[in-house]
Amino acid sequence: MAAETLAFQAEVSKLLDIVARSLYSEREIFLRELISNASDACDKLRYEAITRPELTAEDAEFRIVLRPDAKAKVLEISDNGIGMSRDELVENLGTIARSGTAAFVDRLADEGGESPSLIGQFGVGFYSAFMVADEVRVTSRRAGEMQGWCWASDGQGAFTVEEAEDAPARGTTIRLKLRKDAKEFLEPERLAAIVRRYSDHVALPVVLIEDGGAERVLNTASALWTRPKSEITEEQYTEFYHHVGHGFDTPWLVMHNKAEGRIEYTSLLFVPSARPFNLFDPARRAGVKLYVRRIFITDDCEGLVPGWLRFLQGVVDSEDLPLNISRETLQDNPVIARIGKALVKRVLAELKKKAEKAPEDYVVFWDNFGGVLKEGLYEAGDQRESLLPLVRFRSTEVEGQTSLADYVSRMKEGQDAIFYITGEDAEALARSPQVEGFRARGVEVLLMADPIDDFWIQAVGAFEDKPFRSVTRGDIDLSALGAKAEGKDAAKEDEAKTTEDAPIDGLIAAFRLALADTVKDVRRSERLTDSSVCLVADDSDFDMHLERMLKQHKQLDTTSKRILEVNPDHALIRALAGKVAEGASADLVADAAELLLDQARLAEGEPVRDVTAFGRRLAKVMERGLGAA
Ligand code: ADP
Ligand code: MG
Repeated sequence: MAAETLAFQAEVSKLLDIVARSLYSEREIFLRELISNASDACDKLRYEAITRPELTAEDAEFRIVLRPDAKAKVLEISDNGIGMSRDELVENLGTIARSGTAAFVDRLADEGGESPSLIGQFGVGFYSAFMVADEVRVTSRRAGEMQGWCWASDGQGAFTVEEAEDAPARGTTIRLKLRKDAKEFLEPERLAAIVRRYSDHVALPVVLIEDGGAERVLNTASALWTRPKSEITEEQYTEFYHHVGHGFDTPWLVMHNKAEGRIEYTSLLFVPSARPFNLFDPARRAGVKLYVRRIFITDDCEGLVPGWLRFLQGVVDSEDLPLNISRETLQDNPVIARIGKALVKRVLAELKKKAEKAPEDYVVFWDNFGGVLKEGLYEAGDQRESLLPLVRFRSTEVEGQTSLADYVSRMKEGQDAIFYITGEDAEALARSPQVEGFRARGVEVLLMADPIDDFWIQAVGAFEDKPFRSVTRGDIDLSALGAKAEGKDAAKEDEAKTTEDAPIDGLIAAFRLALADTVKDVRRSERLTDSSVCLVADDSDFDMHLERMLKQHKQLDTTSKRILEVNPDHALIRALAGKVAEGASADLVADAAELLLDQARLAEGEPVRDVTAFGRRLAKVMERGLGAA
């Protein structure tokens, strides 16, 4: 049968371009990637052989073999793992399957693909072979199948597949025709050093077969998590993390524990120091692999680690589960549930320790994963008490971040609530009109910019008996919290007192009339100092940011009317009030009311309602101001 030629998925071609250009200096990692795949392939077969022992009956010793051939300038990497069928070769070595990765490669290519740190966020995997080889030939025979297959490519847009007579009896052999400048990867000592450096943790032997036929095991070949902590170096932990996590950063936190007693398991968990690009991809699961007595079971065990800890990477190895457990029933297994609970407890305790002992380092974690951890406040009612002390916020009163306990310790005399505002961006929130009055009185407002914030706040309600209160919703009596600070605002207040107290009530009545159909109410505000107006939600309605989000996600199709608050101390408002008292035309009042309402909407990041009408009114008011009308 003739060879079939197939094109790489467009993203793979892009990836191959990027790989060829930018990872040049660390190209020795191709070996780690290929050994990592070989080890995964053996793990997979070991699992299948639990129910189909005949698959490994003829060759039960899993191993990975490196065979350099100096004469042919070829390096072979073989495994006796699961192997690949024809379709699997095409699918696995011609496309990028991992969730979000293809989209990420697109983005990288658009950005010129020059940034190795970005590339580092995902494993280049098998394709890294093209960093050292001009020609890659993969022969493979899937365990239990008769026919072997050959996949070959020079990495230039296409590959071929055909039946192979020389495929291994079981598993995969990758034959790299080394580039002229990559001959170093034929040297046994060089290979040995790379394996020791990156692949020592691999749980099966990596064997080097030299030209003469001499065999040498290059790694320790025992599962890393089974070794005593004291015998594991930081580098070995990091390399293992790269293998399980497909990440290329240094872990922010390593948690290696052996639980003995009612349930027995070993866990080796990592918190990354960089945020994975697909953290918010709905398909993303935690990268925690489940093993049973050293045998890999699954990397997709729902129920082991909750979604709000999906940044965790690592392995859990249980002594109690039966080996022949089916992946489908894992989720409902009580042992899994118990391990899961214990892991959550352990991770939260470790995070607490970090937060207390290394607050600056904790900020790094929080910036990366706080938005995910907060999902737990919403989803896991039973964890709230442990989670709340871990949560950090930006606020109007402190540099950096604050905890809730610290916020409470700074609360003003007479303040009975924790004030907050939600939105898209903390910087913008800090400048919101609604926080002006709080700022002026030195009352701290927490700035919350994660999408989950509106939801967990509703669910949690209070911290240490202090209710959370949105500054953009309901009526808030700020006068109880003391006078506005000295300075610019105080001066303004004095000025207000010396001039005759403007008849604000008349203006409010006129605005109510003009905006009767568009707002729920118009009222005097204590929230404002610099701005003339702002919008707030009524107590009985959704908070404004929450409503915007729900509408965006098509979970709500009505809009509740807002309340327009006016600043009685603002020069513009006072002047308008004066005009109203003198009997200004309804037309002028209406224009002013509509314009101010649109201004308040803009401050919320919402569009003006009718662009044409807005423009017309604005022009009219400017003409009047310039004395042209
Ligand atoms: P990843 O390992 O992150 O999935 P790779 O690019 O390294 O990505 O490999 C792509 C896929 O190719 C693997 O997921 C696996 O299904 C398949 N594969 C690669 N090497 C082997 C191998 N030696 N044996 C069996 N399957 C393999
Ligand atoms: Mg891989």
